[in-house]
Amino acid sequence: MKLSTKIIIALIIGAVVGVLLNTFSPGTFTTLDKYLFTPLGQIFLNLIKMLVVPIVFFSIVLGVAGLGDPKKLGRIGGKTIGYFLITTTIAITIAIILAFIIKPGTVGTFDTANASFEAQEAPPVGETLLNMIPTNPVLAMTEGNMLQIIVFSIFIGFGITMLGNKAKGLYNIIDQGNELMMYLVNLVMKFAPYGTFGLIATAVGSQGWGAIKAMGLYMSVVVLALFVHAILTYGGSIALLAKRNPIEFFKGFAPAMTVGFSTSSSNATLPIAMNVAQKNLRVPESISSFVQPLGATINMDGTAIMQGVATVFIAQVYGVDLSFSALITVVVTAVLASIGTAGVPGVGLIMLAMVLSAVGLPVEGIALIIGIDRLLDMIRTSVNITGDAACAVIVAESEARRAEKAGA
Ligand code: ASP
Repeated sequence: MKLSTKIIIALIIGAVVGVLLNTFSPGTFTTLDKYLFTPLGQIFLNLIKMLVVPIVFFSIVLGVAGLGDPKKLGRIGGKTIGYFLITTTIAITIAIILAFIIKPGTVGTFDTANASFEAQEAPPVGETLLNMIPTNPVLAMTEGNMLQIIVFSIFIGFGITMLGNKAKGLYNIIDQGNELMMYLVNLVMKFAPYGTFGLIATAVGSQGWGAIKAMGLYMSVVVLALFVHAILTYGGSIALLAKRNPIEFFKGFAPAMTVGFSTSSSNATLPIAMNVAQKNLRVPESISSFVQPLGATINMDGTAIMQGVATVFIAQVYGVDLSFSALITVVVTAVLASIGTAGVPGVGLIMLAMVLSAVGLPVEGIALIIGIDRLLDMIRTSVNITGDAACAVIVAESEARRAEKAGA
């Protein structure tokens, strides 16, 4: 049986077991969760997280060194960031339009009187970008500060290219390090079905299903917007820009999507997402290793979609009319928030506070959606990483065409 089939089966069994225990025997769930589901999930999560920092470092250094020409890096960087910004803007626009049409905040009653939410300080986006250059690369790696690791690795890769033969030995070592990491990803993936089972059983089993009923319409709008965006924006751009079959793209990337779904973390999924993009989607290593780590950090279309729907939803619940200029503010802040959101579970919700305060909406409104956010986090994380992979495929195709033209 193929690994991706195994993971999907594990996902379904995990969800069913979680729902059944949650409904019929919460006590058994607590015990099983403590001794089986959580440990299984945690082992898998730790195994893949263990590989994130070395994989990002080795593969970016190798990728940049492999490009050979600094101009090429600038060109790929430009295309990547352009795609990220445009698709995130489209994502949030789809979200706002659907939320306006379906009006999830006007159906049902919501307990706004008792809603309270302590907004955590959102990391200032400007500062995150300014701090991209690490003053201490080792600290960046220990902290797992992705943007700083990316910048440091680009410098090292660039230096190795420039030094040519003088750094040949180092290049070979990094090449072997990268091989080793890819081998370990494949090894760790053998545990994925068990890990996924544990993660999903925990996530589904500890949901308050009553809350889900009350929030059904809001959730449906978010899920609908996520699907519309994945199919139209990613499917469309894969077909039009990369001239590739979107169905093959989604099928090829499915194993990574299921892992994103079960871990709710773009960062943790990164080793698998890169491996799958290189193997199944034929994205050259030099492009995948640059586009995907960057995307896992700054490109979060799924998160932006949740924030768009949530903002309109909260405005509707509190009876606040959002003016056109307020909507533009929502689009701009959500794009920025998605850049500043780290690819870890639940951060999108923290950044939502920033979007809400930008348009003067009550931050307590977050209390209404917090209970059901875990499930949405799973789906939006899959979308987040799919956006990165779509970008990698499109950039790869456009570079290949350019090379062909130059060769012809
Ligand atoms: N969990 C998301 C991710 O890692 C971020 C978020 O929306 O909370 O991509």
